[in-house]
Amino acid sequence: MTRAAEIWANGISRDLNDNSTNKLRGVIDTTKVQMPVVDAAPAAAAAKPAAKAPAPSPKPDRPITALLIVSSKPGAIRAFSCSVPCLYVARNFCLRLCRHVLKEIVMTAYDYDLFVIGGGSGGVRAGRVAASLGKRVGIAEEFRYGGTCVIRGCVPKKLYVYASQFSEHFEDAEGYGWTVGERSFDWKKLVAAKEKEITRLEGLYRRGLENNKAEVFDSRAELVDAHTVRLVASDKTVTAERIVIATGGVANAHISLPGYQHCISSNEAFDLEELPRSMLIAGGGYIAVEFANIFHGLGVDVTLIYRGKEILSRFDHDMRQGLHKAMVEKGVRILTTDVIESVEKRAEGDLVARTKNGETITADQVMLALGRDPNTKGLGLEKAGVAVDHAGAIIVDDFRARARRISLRSATSPTGYS
Ligand SMILES: Cc1cc2nc3c(=O)[nH]c(=O)nc-3n(C[C@H](O)[C@H](O)[C@H](O)COP(=O)(O)OP(=O)(O)OC[C@H]3O[C@@H](n4cnc5c(N)ncnc54)[C@H](O)[C@@H]3O)c2cc1C
Repeated sequence: MTRAAEIWANGISRDLNDNSTNKLRGVIDTTKVQMPVVDAAPAAAAAKPAAKAPAPSPKPDRPITALLIVSSKPGAIRAFSCSVPCLYVARNFCLRLCRHVLKEIVMTAYDYDLFVIGGGSGGVRAGRVAASLGKRVGIAEEFRYGGTCVIRGCVPKKLYVYASQFSEHFEDAEGYGWTVGERSFDWKKLVAAKEKEITRLEGLYRRGLENNKAEVFDSRAELVDAHTVRLVASDKTVTAERIVIATGGVANAHISLPGYQHCISSNEAFDLEELPRSMLIAGGGYIAVEFANIFHGLGVDVTLIYRGKEILSRFDHDMRQGLHKAMVEKGVRILTTDVIESVEKRAEGDLVARTKNGETITADQVMLALGRDPNTKGLGLEKAGVAVDHAGAIIVDDFRARARRISLRSATSPTGYS
């Protein structure tokens, strides 16, 4: 059951504000608290040691009141208190005890020690390692375990690169004395083989989690608050002491482009029904360049269009020029300092793209590889108080490990990270 634990300790809140308890904030005015009530099992467990606190000293230092507030549901607050006048030494002992008890409560009050949203490379690794260390881990993936890299990124891309290179190998082979027979290529066979391999890898990712006793959910997950996650498939909520957001990125659909809806991204390129005869690829990054070479190698007539002067901006200069030249020699048409301004679908089914420099390019498919955006839309980050930048990327600390909280910036730590 969902539990949030909070503490208020009269006059000692600063002492208790160490790593284990700094997320527990005072919310109640003691004057409004009636008689002590013990509600939840963890709180009951906590009450016992508190009752065994050292006997009151004949010379009391100052009375302290430790008040634990445990809510079984958000908003349903129950409390109990321990009011013991004690010497300084006893008081310190009490504080240590409180800290220990609080740690226990915090650890057991949540359904999981760690909940991971997103079952890609980052999320699966975080979940598996934490689970292997004995943490109670839950993980939710809305599409397929393995994420972008395994399902629609690095892995299928590399398989397609290998497939595309055979045409050149066949040609080279003849120069080395081989006689290569009649060649043909079956796109559907490649797609099916790719699917088989990524399904195998997906199974390995899932089993890695399950074997380490992580609880695996096939569901979209959204944040309800800083410790609560809603599993959309079952409409259930679960709580966790810590939540890892590993939702990756999504291809920018470029919706300001007239006719963008006729275009595909790398996601669809892997699973096209038919191998196109011709393809226009927009973008000059590694995804655009790799797909241009893949489809060209598979026999497609490819045009690459890029707004910059040279493809692969920020890569090594010589390599950019060398690769550009090699691609053109192979037969890839490369248009630089130009962009697509519109895409129209003709009655025949093919697409006509018009460019800023006045080119008209007809192709079976237009693929946009114009960057990727943070996949944080609708995630509920604002409900958890997590700050994002203008692009929706979570603002993280210098170690790229912790998110900055919107509302707690001044209240928690000077850096604003919590
Ligand atoms: C075409 C392409 C080729 C690439 N090639 C390479 C390469 O050769 N080498 C390389 O190093 N990198 C490559 N990359 C990049 C690599 O894929 C990513 O860097 C890597 O996948 C990022 O991992 P991640 O775990 O952060 O995110 P992802 O792998 O994107 O995983 C995020 C997961 O979260 C899930 N998700 C999102 N929101 C929710 C939600 N609310 N609830 C539940 N689940 C959710 C998504 O479905 C996804 O499975 C390539 C990427 C692409 C697109």
